[in-house]
Amino acid sequence: MRIDNLSHAILFSSEEGSGALPQALSLAGYILCSDKKEDGSACGTCPSCRKTKNAVHPDLHFIVPVNRSAGISAARQPVTDDFLDLWRSSYLENPDITEQEWYKKLEIENKQGAISAAEAGNILRKLQFRSFEGGARVIIIWLPERMHPAAANKLLKILEEPVPGTYFLLVSHRPDQLLPTIRSRCMLIQVPPKEYRPLPRETYTNLERLLDLCFSGKPSGVLDWAEDMATQGRESQKAFMASSMQIIRQYYMLSLGLPSLSFLDPSSLPIASRYAARMSETFFRVIYERLNKGMEQLERNVNARVLFCSLAFDFFLSLQR
Ligand SMILES: [Zn+2]
Repeated sequence: MRIDNLSHAILFSSEEGSGALPQALSLAGYILCSDKKEDGSACGTCPSCRKTKNAVHPDLHFIVPVNRSAGISAARQPVTDDFLDLWRSSYLENPDITEQEWYKKLEIENKQGAISAAEAGNILRKLQFRSFEGGARVIIIWLPERMHPAAANKLLKILEEPVPGTYFLLVSHRPDQLLPTIRSRCMLIQVPPKEYRPLPRETYTNLERLLDLCFSGKPSGVLDWAEDMATQGRESQKAFMASSMQIIRQYYMLSLGLPSLSFLDPSSLPIASRYAARMSETFFRVIYERLNKGMEQLERNVNARVLFCSLAFDFFLSLQR
Protein backbone atom coordinates (compact mmCIF):
# COMPACT_ATOMS: atom_id res chain seq x y z
CA MET A 1 0.00 0.00 0.00
CA ARG A 2 1.10 3.54 -0.58
CA ILE A 3 0.83 4.58 3.04
CA ASP A 4 2.18 8.04 2.15
CA ASN A 5 -1.14 8.65 0.45
CA LEU A 6 -3.18 7.70 3.47
CA SER A 7 -5.15 10.64 4.79
CA HIS A 8 -3.92 11.77 8.23
CA ALA A 9 -7.52 11.89 9.47
CA ILE A 10 -10.05 9.18 8.73
CA LEU A 11 -13.61 9.09 9.96
CA PHE A 12 -15.15 5.62 10.22
CA SER A 13 -18.88 5.95 10.34
CA SER A 14 -21.35 3.17 11.04
CA GLU A 15 -24.36 2.15 13.03
CA GLU A 16 -23.60 1.02 16.53
CA GLY A 17 -22.26 -2.55 16.59
CA SER A 18 -21.45 -2.60 12.87
CA GLY A 19 -17.75 -3.14 13.29
CA ALA A 20 -16.37 0.37 12.73
CA LEU A 21 -14.14 0.21 15.82
CA PRO A 22 -12.54 -3.14 14.85
CA GLN A 23 -12.05 -1.75 11.32
CA ALA A 24 -10.26 1.30 12.70
CA LEU A 25 -8.11 -0.92 14.91
CA SER A 26 -7.22 -3.10 11.97
CA LEU A 27 -6.09 -0.04 9.99
CA ALA A 28 -4.12 1.11 13.05
CA GLY A 29 -2.48 -2.33 13.11
CA TYR A 30 -1.50 -1.91 9.49
CA ILE A 31 -0.10 1.60 10.02
CA LEU A 32 1.99 0.46 12.99
CA CYS A 33 3.11 -2.92 11.59
CA SER A 34 6.83 -3.03 10.94
CA ASP A 35 6.55 -5.80 8.34
CA LYS A 36 3.60 -4.75 6.15
CA LYS A 37 2.51 -7.20 3.49
CA GLU A 38 2.13 -6.38 -0.21
CA ASP A 39 -1.62 -6.96 -0.17
CA GLY A 40 -2.23 -4.15 2.30
CA SER A 41 -2.49 -6.16 5.46
CA ALA A 42 -0.44 -6.23 8.65
CA CYS A 43 1.89 -9.21 9.15
CA GLY A 44 0.16 -10.12 12.41
CA THR A 45 3.28 -11.50 14.03
CA CYS A 46 5.83 -8.67 14.44
CA PRO A 47 6.22 -7.09 17.91
CA SER A 48 4.17 -4.07 16.78
CA CYS A 49 1.30 -6.25 15.60
CA ARG A 50 1.31 -8.21 18.84
CA LYS A 51 1.17 -5.00 20.86
CA THR A 52 -1.59 -3.52 18.72
CA LYS A 53 -3.62 -6.70 19.02
CA ASN A 54 -3.54 -6.35 22.79
CA ALA A 55 -4.17 -2.60 22.55
CA VAL A 56 -0.91 -1.90 24.41
CA HIS A 57 1.19 -0.40 21.60
CA PRO A 58 2.78 2.74 23.11
CA ASP A 59 2.13 4.69 19.90
CA LEU A 60 -1.53 3.72 19.78
CA HIS A 61 -3.55 6.24 21.77
CA PHE A 62 -7.22 6.10 22.65
CA ILE A 63 -9.66 8.89 23.34
CA VAL A 64 -13.08 7.71 24.50
CA PRO A 65 -15.93 9.44 26.32
CA VAL A 66 -15.58 9.18 30.09
CA ASN A 67 -17.19 10.69 33.13
CA ARG A 68 -16.43 11.05 36.78
CA SER A 69 -16.97 7.76 38.56
CA ALA A 70 -16.26 6.86 42.14
CA GLY A 71 -12.46 6.57 42.23
CA ILE A 72 -11.60 9.84 40.48
CA SER A 73 -11.07 13.05 42.45
CA ALA A 74 -13.35 15.95 41.60
CA ALA A 75 -10.38 18.30 41.31
CA ARG A 76 -10.01 17.88 37.56
CA GLN A 77 -11.82 16.60 34.50
CA PRO A 78 -11.41 12.85 33.99
CA VAL A 79 -9.54 11.72 30.86
CA THR A 80 -9.24 8.39 29.05
CA ASP A 81 -5.85 7.67 30.60
CA ASP A 82 -7.59 7.46 34.01
CA PHE A 83 -9.57 4.47 32.69
CA LEU A 84 -7.09 3.04 30.20
CA ASP A 85 -6.85 -0.46 31.71
CA LEU A 86 -10.62 -0.71 31.93
CA TRP A 87 -10.98 0.48 28.35
CA ARG A 88 -8.41 -2.06 27.10
CA SER A 89 -10.02 -4.99 28.86
CA SER A 90 -13.52 -3.89 27.76
CA TYR A 91 -12.39 -3.52 24.17
CA LEU A 92 -10.55 -6.86 24.14
CA GLU A 93 -13.59 -8.57 25.62
CA ASN A 94 -15.86 -7.09 22.93
CA PRO A 95 -14.18 -5.16 20.08
CA ASP A 96 -17.60 -3.94 18.98
CA ILE A 97 -18.55 -2.55 22.38
CA THR A 98 -21.51 -0.14 22.40
CA GLU A 99 -21.64 3.21 24.13
CA GLN A 100 -24.05 1.98 26.83
CA GLU A 101 -21.95 -1.11 27.50
CA TRP A 102 -18.96 1.15 28.04
CA TYR A 103 -20.85 3.41 30.46
CA LYS A 104 -21.87 0.31 32.33
CA LYS A 105 -18.20 -0.62 32.72
CA LEU A 106 -17.49 2.92 33.89
CA GLU A 107 -20.39 2.60 36.33
CA ILE A 108 -21.86 5.90 35.21
CA GLU A 109 -24.90 4.33 33.56
CA ASN A 110 -27.29 7.18 34.21
CA LYS A 111 -24.77 9.80 33.14
CA GLN A 112 -23.32 10.36 29.71
CA GLY A 113 -19.63 10.29 28.94
CA ALA A 114 -17.86 13.20 27.31
CA ILE A 115 -14.55 14.01 25.67
CA SER A 116 -13.34 17.06 27.52
CA ALA A 117 -11.03 19.92 26.65
CA ALA A 118 -8.57 18.38 29.14
CA GLU A 119 -8.48 15.28 26.92
CA ALA A 120 -7.61 17.35 23.86
CA GLY A 121 -4.89 19.10 25.87
CA ASN A 122 -3.56 15.69 26.88
CA ILE A 123 -3.20 14.64 23.24
CA LEU A 124 -1.56 17.93 22.30
CA ARG A 125 1.05 17.30 24.99
CA LYS A 126 1.69 13.76 23.76
CA LEU A 127 2.15 14.99 20.20
CA GLN A 128 4.96 17.30 21.29
CA PHE A 129 7.18 14.28 21.82
CA ARG A 130 8.57 11.84 19.32
CA SER A 131 6.73 8.56 18.92
CA PHE A 132 7.93 5.92 21.38
CA GLU A 133 9.07 3.44 18.77
CA GLY A 134 10.29 6.02 16.25
CA GLY A 135 7.60 5.17 13.68
CA ALA A 136 4.05 6.29 13.05
CA ARG A 137 1.53 6.88 15.77
CA VAL A 138 -2.22 6.49 15.76
CA ILE A 139 -4.85 8.24 17.84
CA ILE A 140 -8.22 6.50 17.89
CA ILE A 141 -11.09 8.76 18.89
CA TRP A 142 -14.12 6.64 19.67
CA LEU A 143 -17.43 8.55 19.55
CA PRO A 144 -16.07 12.00 18.62
CA GLU A 145 -19.69 13.22 18.69
CA ARG A 146 -19.25 13.24 22.49
CA MET A 147 -16.57 15.91 22.25
CA HIS A 148 -17.08 19.06 24.24
CA PRO A 149 -17.03 22.07 21.84
CA ALA A 150 -13.76 23.27 23.42
CA ALA A 151 -12.23 19.83 22.76
CA ALA A 152 -13.54 19.83 19.20
CA ASN A 153 -11.93 23.20 18.52
CA LYS A 154 -8.59 22.05 19.87
CA LEU A 155 -8.77 18.89 17.77
CA LEU A 156 -9.63 20.96 14.73
CA LYS A 157 -6.41 22.96 15.17
CA ILE A 158 -4.43 19.70 15.25
CA LEU A 159 -6.18 18.39 12.14
CA GLU A 160 -5.49 21.65 10.32
CA GLU A 161 -1.75 21.29 10.90
CA PRO A 162 -1.13 17.56 10.53
CA VAL A 163 2.00 16.17 12.14
CA PRO A 164 3.80 13.82 9.70
CA GLY A 165 3.39 10.17 10.65
CA THR A 166 0.47 10.87 12.97
CA TYR A 167 -2.92 9.42 12.06
CA PHE A 168 -6.25 10.25 13.62
CA LEU A 169 -8.88 7.55 13.25
CA LEU A 170 -12.32 8.74 14.34
CA VAL A 171 -15.07 6.20 14.92
CA SER A 172 -18.52 7.76 14.95
CA HIS A 173 -22.13 6.56 14.95
CA ARG A 174 -23.47 10.09 14.46
CA PRO A 175 -21.10 11.95 12.13
CA ASP A 176 -23.83 14.55 11.50
CA GLN A 177 -23.27 15.73 15.07
CA LEU A 178 -19.61 16.55 14.44
CA LEU A 179 -18.41 20.04 13.59
CA PRO A 180 -18.66 20.31 9.79
CA THR A 181 -15.10 21.69 9.82
CA ILE A 182 -13.87 18.47 11.47
CA ARG A 183 -15.86 16.27 9.10
CA SER A 184 -14.44 18.06 6.08
CA ARG A 185 -10.86 17.45 7.33
CA CYS A 186 -11.43 13.69 7.38
CA MET A 187 -11.62 11.06 4.72
CA LEU A 188 -14.93 9.34 5.39
CA ILE A 189 -15.20 5.56 5.42
CA GLN A 190 -18.78 4.42 5.65
CA VAL A 191 -18.77 0.95 7.22
CA PRO A 192 -21.83 -0.82 5.84
CA PRO A 193 -24.44 -2.07 8.30
CA LYS A 194 -24.49 -5.80 9.08
CA GLU A 195 -27.52 -6.17 6.79
CA TYR A 196 -25.59 -4.74 3.87
CA ARG A 197 -27.38 -3.92 0.65
CA PRO A 198 -24.98 -3.54 -2.28
CA LEU A 199 -24.97 -0.23 -4.16
CA PRO A 200 -27.26 -0.10 -7.21
CA ARG A 201 -25.69 -1.59 -10.33
CA GLU A 202 -27.09 1.37 -12.27
CA THR A 203 -24.83 3.81 -10.42
CA TYR A 204 -21.78 1.72 -11.26
CA THR A 205 -22.86 1.69 -14.90
CA ASN A 206 -23.37 5.47 -15.06
CA LEU A 207 -20.18 6.23 -13.19
CA GLU A 208 -18.06 3.76 -15.15
CA ARG A 209 -19.38 5.22 -18.40
CA LEU A 210 -18.27 8.70 -17.30
CA LEU A 211 -14.87 7.41 -16.19
CA ASP A 212 -14.32 5.57 -19.49
CA LEU A 213 -15.11 8.76 -21.42
CA CYS A 214 -12.73 10.79 -19.24
CA PHE A 215 -9.92 8.26 -19.58
CA SER A 216 -10.33 8.15 -23.36
CA GLY A 217 -10.03 11.97 -23.43
CA LYS A 218 -13.32 12.71 -25.23
CA PRO A 219 -14.91 15.92 -23.87
CA SER A 220 -17.86 15.69 -26.31
CA GLY A 221 -18.85 12.25 -24.98
CA VAL A 222 -18.67 13.66 -21.48
CA LEU A 223 -21.23 16.30 -22.51
CA ASP A 224 -23.59 13.61 -23.86
CA TRP A 225 -23.27 11.80 -20.54
CA ALA A 226 -24.24 14.99 -18.67
CA GLU A 227 -27.26 15.45 -20.97
CA ASP A 228 -28.43 11.90 -20.24
CA MET A 229 -28.06 12.38 -16.49
CA ALA A 230 -29.92 15.70 -16.65
CA THR A 231 -33.00 14.02 -18.13
CA GLN A 232 -33.32 11.52 -15.25
CA GLY A 233 -35.70 12.16 -12.36
CA ARG A 234 -34.46 14.15 -9.38
CA GLU A 235 -34.60 11.14 -7.06
CA SER A 236 -32.42 9.00 -9.29
CA GLN A 237 -30.02 11.94 -9.69
CA LYS A 238 -29.74 12.17 -5.91
CA ALA A 239 -29.25 8.42 -5.69
CA PHE A 240 -26.46 8.71 -8.25
CA MET A 241 -24.65 11.38 -6.19
CA ALA A 242 -25.00 9.48 -2.91
CA SER A 243 -23.94 6.10 -4.30
CA SER A 244 -21.12 7.65 -6.33
CA MET A 245 -19.64 9.10 -3.15
CA GLN A 246 -19.53 5.60 -1.72
CA ILE A 247 -18.04 4.14 -4.88
CA ILE A 248 -15.36 6.87 -4.96
CA ARG A 249 -14.52 5.88 -1.38
CA GLN A 250 -14.21 2.24 -2.49
CA TYR A 251 -11.78 3.33 -5.21
CA TYR A 252 -9.83 5.36 -2.67
CA MET A 253 -9.37 2.35 -0.38
CA LEU A 254 -8.29 0.25 -3.36
CA SER A 255 -5.81 2.92 -4.44
CA LEU A 256 -4.29 2.69 -0.98
CA GLY A 257 -4.07 -1.09 -1.32
CA LEU A 258 -6.70 -1.70 1.35
CA PRO A 259 -9.30 -3.87 -0.41
CA SER A 260 -10.77 -5.08 2.87
CA LEU A 261 -11.85 -1.51 3.68
CA SER A 262 -13.49 -1.06 0.29
CA PHE A 263 -16.27 -3.51 1.28
CA LEU A 264 -16.50 -4.61 -2.35
CA ASP A 265 -17.47 -8.17 -3.10
CA PRO A 266 -14.56 -10.13 -4.60
CA SER A 267 -16.18 -10.35 -8.05
CA SER A 268 -16.20 -6.53 -8.40
CA LEU A 269 -12.62 -6.09 -7.21
CA PRO A 270 -10.72 -6.52 -10.51
CA ILE A 271 -12.74 -3.89 -12.44
CA ALA A 272 -12.80 -1.43 -9.54
CA SER A 273 -9.05 -1.87 -9.01
CA ARG A 274 -8.36 -1.00 -12.64
CA TYR A 275 -10.22 2.31 -12.24
CA ALA A 276 -8.65 3.03 -8.86
CA ALA A 277 -5.13 2.57 -10.23
CA ARG A 278 -5.65 5.54 -12.55
CA MET A 279 -6.87 7.96 -9.89
CA SER A 280 -4.71 10.41 -7.97
CA GLU A 281 -4.98 11.76 -4.45
CA THR A 282 -6.08 15.11 -5.96
CA PHE A 283 -8.85 13.40 -7.90
CA PHE A 284 -10.24 11.83 -4.74
CA ARG A 285 -10.18 15.12 -2.85
CA VAL A 286 -11.69 17.20 -5.67
CA ILE A 287 -14.38 14.74 -6.71
CA TYR A 288 -15.49 13.80 -3.22
CA GLU A 289 -16.05 17.50 -2.42
CA ARG A 290 -17.71 17.98 -5.78
CA LEU A 291 -20.22 15.16 -5.28
CA ASN A 292 -20.97 16.46 -1.82
CA LYS A 293 -21.69 19.90 -3.26
CA GLY A 294 -23.76 18.29 -6.03
CA MET A 295 -26.00 16.67 -3.40
CA GLU A 296 -26.67 20.06 -1.83
CA GLN A 297 -27.31 21.65 -5.21
CA LEU A 298 -29.88 18.98 -6.05
CA GLU A 299 -31.63 19.72 -2.75
CA ARG A 300 -31.76 23.37 -3.74
CA ASN A 301 -33.16 22.51 -7.20
CA VAL A 302 -30.21 23.86 -9.15
CA ASN A 303 -30.61 23.36 -12.91
CA ALA A 304 -29.67 19.71 -13.53
CA ARG A 305 -28.12 20.31 -16.96
CA VAL A 306 -25.74 22.95 -15.57
CA LEU A 307 -24.97 20.79 -12.55
CA PHE A 308 -24.13 17.59 -14.44
CA CYS A 309 -22.13 19.45 -17.11
CA SER A 310 -19.93 21.06 -14.50
CA LEU A 311 -19.65 17.79 -12.54
CA ALA A 312 -18.68 15.87 -15.66
CA PHE A 313 -16.01 18.42 -16.57
CA ASP A 314 -14.57 18.35 -13.08
CA PHE A 315 -14.24 14.57 -13.48
CA PHE A 316 -12.68 15.07 -16.90
CA LEU A 317 -10.15 17.69 -15.79
CA SER A 318 -9.09 15.95 -12.59
CA LEU A 319 -8.48 12.68 -14.45
CA GLN A 320 -6.18 14.17 -17.12
CA ARG A 321 -2.52 13.86 -16.25
ZN1 LIG B 1 3.34 -6.66 11.84
